[in-house]
Amino acid sequence: MSTSVPTTDTSTPGQRARALLKVMQDKGMVPDGYIEQLTDLMENQWDPANGARVVARAWVDDDYRRLLLEDGTAACAEYGYTGPQGEYIVALEDTPTVKNVIVCSLCSCTNWPVLGLPPEWYKSFEFRARLVREGRTVLRELGTELPPSVQVCVWDTSAESRYLVLPQRPAGSEHLDEEALRRLVTKDVLIGVALPVVR
Ligand code: FE
Repeated sequence: MSTSVPTTDTSTPGQRARALLKVMQDKGMVPDGYIEQLTDLMENQWDPANGARVVARAWVDDDYRRLLLEDGTAACAEYGYTGPQGEYIVALEDTPTVKNVIVCSLCSCTNWPVLGLPPEWYKSFEFRARLVREGRTVLRELGTELPPSVQVCVWDTSAESRYLVLPQRPAGSEHLDEEALRRLVTKDVLIGVALPVVR
């Protein structure tokens, strides 16, 4: 098999990705519209606002909350939040004594349709290694100080499971409607490193 040597500069990851794409396109390995469709998903559809919608609904609708905890995939699919990295979704319920946090210690997996793409820090070696060893300390460094009575429960993403954290509805949010509640739920809240706060 002959290989063509790219004549372009390939010293950066972006240049190497473009060179690889060109080779695959030249060989007819990229289906029509594939890149455009994936780019649209990443830029416009995989959004933590999706997870915020799920969490806020669970805070105000007990039937939906039960469904979310029993079958996260089905609950998210009600809003169309399915697809790559969202094939098997598990919601992790915080309680007064348990704070859930998610990580992918192997790489960077998140629940793309519901959380969006992972933040840079989530992919760092330091976060992945330290969260599983000293979760409480890492949370404190990220601004979330938990009392000793709260257990930190770290969930390592597996090959199939994609998590989202269902935090407790914060104190002082009793007067907020579902739409206002959504605004309390950020990507960090869905990962579990932050708590929803009423400002
Ligand atoms: Fe991963």
